[in-house]
Amino acid sequence: MILVTGGAGYIGSHVVKLLLDSNFEVLVIDNLSTGFKKAVDNRAIFVEADLGNKEELDKMFIKFNITGVIHFAASAYVGESVLKPQKYYKNNVITTINLLEAMLSHKVEKIIFSSSCAVYGNPTGQVIIETEKNNPINPYGHTKLICEKILENYSRAYNLTYINLRYFNVAGGHPTGVIGEYHNPETHLIPRVLEHLLGKYKDIRIFGNDYPTKDGTCIRDYIHVMDLAEAHKLALVALLKNHTINEVFNLGIGKGYSVKEVISKCEEVSGIKANIRYENRRIGDPAMLVASADKAKNELGWVPKYDINHMVSSAWKWHQNNPNGYTT
Ligand code: UDP
Repeated sequence: MILVTGGAGYIGSHVVKLLLDSNFEVLVIDNLSTGFKKAVDNRAIFVEADLGNKEELDKMFIKFNITGVIHFAASAYVGESVLKPQKYYKNNVITTINLLEAMLSHKVEKIIFSSSCAVYGNPTGQVIIETEKNNPINPYGHTKLICEKILENYSRAYNLTYINLRYFNVAGGHPTGVIGEYHNPETHLIPRVLEHLLGKYKDIRIFGNDYPTKDGTCIRDYIHVMDLAEAHKLALVALLKNHTINEVFNLGIGKGYSVKEVISKCEEVSGIKANIRYENRRIGDPAMLVASADKAKNELGWVPKYDINHMVSSAWKWHQNNPNGYTT
């Protein structure tokens, strides 16, 4: 059985569904602080628990035959991490240490860790390869890097193997339309634009148009959540078979889109004009983050299938059908 922490969250719920569709048994632990029970496929076993609660965690490992872990549970708002670093160190670092303690004491030796391109900070090159210097510029990125280092150190000392997956900007929803991206509050660009186009917000704010990029707005590498989920499955299989261990992979498409370009794409897909308002830069935002995903393609055999059109149109379908997300 695969333990998925944070399996009620946006990315976690899509990975859970794909694992179940691929005949894995799945146990989800989530404290529902930002996730939604409704997002969890009912074929999974669901336990509402907090990774801060070591006793509860211990019980899970005794009760279920866990053979591997995918660890999503974390706080993941860059801006909030600058204002509330304590929350991020507690929710991201301490919980990871607790989880690893439970894994080691119950001899569960395999973990896939949700890391982030935020570990790179403000990279110098055009496209980021995994060996690029780590230099996070916000507490969120620091917590992810610290967890990566913990895994590296633990794997040398104990019976533990890991794969760190560094996500770029994840977007889109499940092709069935049953699950999609819903955060409350929503801060991410694509869902925020779509919610604006559906009338939830009167405008879409662009945080900074004076970056050193082609149109002055930040450039990001957007990856479809189902391509990301597929990469998790491939990484899990490789890790369980000991084909690939103790490695780090970027997960992005290798193509950058500016904030303005993303908004235009949302207008094109929806056929609705956005009302744009320019604001100051958001603290902690690097100008450009674009992945080289060659390593994941070459070593995991990953073949991403979806482009920005699919991301925005699957997200648009989800938001139109679920204007209140999982809350109704
Ligand atoms: N962004 C924006 N307006 C919004 C939300 C996001 O201009 O309402 C910008 C943000 O400053 C960043 C990019 O869009 O440059 C992607 O932000 P998001 O929060 O989606 O992801 P992040 O890159 O922070 O993980």
